[in-house]
Amino acid sequence: MDRASEEARVRFPGHDEGFEGFVMATYKLLLLPGDGIGPEVMAEVKRLIGWLDTQGIAKFETEKGLVGGASYDADKVGITDATMAKALAADAVLFGAVGGPKWDSVPYEVRPEAGLLRLRKDLALYANLRPAICYPALAESSSLKPEVVEGLDIMIVRELTGGVYFGEPKTITDLGNGQKRAVDTQVYDTYEIERIARVAFDLARKRRNKLTSMEKRNVMKSGVLWHEVVTQLHQREYKDVALQHQLADSGGMQLVRWPKQFDVIVTDNLFGDMLSDIAAMLTGSLGMLPSASLGDIDPKTNKRRALYEPVHGSAPDIAGQGAANPIAMLASFGMALRYSFDRGELADKLDAAIAAVLAKGLRTADLKSTGATVVSTSQMGEAVVKELQALHA
Ligand code: NAD
Repeated sequence: MDRASEEARVRFPGHDEGFEGFVMATYKLLLLPGDGIGPEVMAEVKRLIGWLDTQGIAKFETEKGLVGGASYDADKVGITDATMAKALAADAVLFGAVGGPKWDSVPYEVRPEAGLLRLRKDLALYANLRPAICYPALAESSSLKPEVVEGLDIMIVRELTGGVYFGEPKTITDLGNGQKRAVDTQVYDTYEIERIARVAFDLARKRRNKLTSMEKRNVMKSGVLWHEVVTQLHQREYKDVALQHQLADSGGMQLVRWPKQFDVIVTDNLFGDMLSDIAAMLTGSLGMLPSASLGDIDPKTNKRRALYEPVHGSAPDIAGQGAANPIAMLASFGMALRYSFDRGELADKLDAAIAAVLAKGLRTADLKSTGATVVSTSQMGEAVVKELQALHA
């Protein structure tokens, strides 16, 4: 193995490795189901974990905790210090969803979302990975033409802890003449750009070896620095990866014109927020979209801090009805297998099982189309485990 591949293997171990030389490890996972449909979709991950355990395919040590409204009801905070300590001790955190009308009027600092924000902050999760994958069976349900999205597999890497959402000053000033002035500050330091770019280059090496960096260097100084830092890092450490720069607005256009031209896209917090939502909608329902948020590698354990969660919220409109689509949650667990647990081969099988279930015409209500069989949350989870079983037979 050359040095570059060896380095990538250390950063994202096992992404594409087989069973050779494999020693069964026990993975420490903290499950935080949260509110609304969170516990319903998390139940399907528990089913899967239980099956993997009994089959001896993977071993998990799981802990559970409260987050969001559920934590507020029990302890009057979005997440307790004790649960936070469990999150810091885990190899990865699996998060359902938080929020709902029940907690609309709780104090701002202890609202359900505060639990998620504290997790992101205390785990220092600066890289948000949003894959957009279009399963062939769902190409028809995209708002774009099937040939534009069928087989789509791109990854958007969004910087999550810097930029205009956090930069100071951040103010609204009364100018005294009937006018006000609002200021947000877009600010990035070299190290912030470099570490997110490094995550993206490493991912590209594990995929199709192509990275597109998006900023607005034509009108923003932060874009000029972003472009410079990514270019220099490429020259220094990642010459083997094909790097392309694109202005973020034209990138947005290209995403809906011909998204398959992309492999990995890296961009800042604001552009990433928008571009990842655009990419998400290429693939159909919110119920299909997983995500990962990664932090630095702990030098002691050689593990990256990580939280995995579906993109969707707590869906109070369908909570408790057994109608939620568990695929986003299951696929988030798949990302944990890939990026935290060294089990890329198992993650591939899980993806194949999900694709097979969809190809057989099983759909939760959010995906229903003519000729499809509408199933409940647990029937969908059960079907995925059954397909996985068939793939392991
Ligand atoms: P939402 O994602 O919860 O729901 C939007 C729509 O998509 C709803 O019609 C819902 O039924 C549907 N939907 C979402 N996930 C689905 C699934 N797995 N299967 C089937 N259908 C699904 O967004 P919202 O309605 O804007 O927000 C509801 C609550 O969730 C709010 O309190 C919001 O603050 C919270 N929220 C939390 C997170 C999070 O925990 N990360 C993210 C977004 C919203």
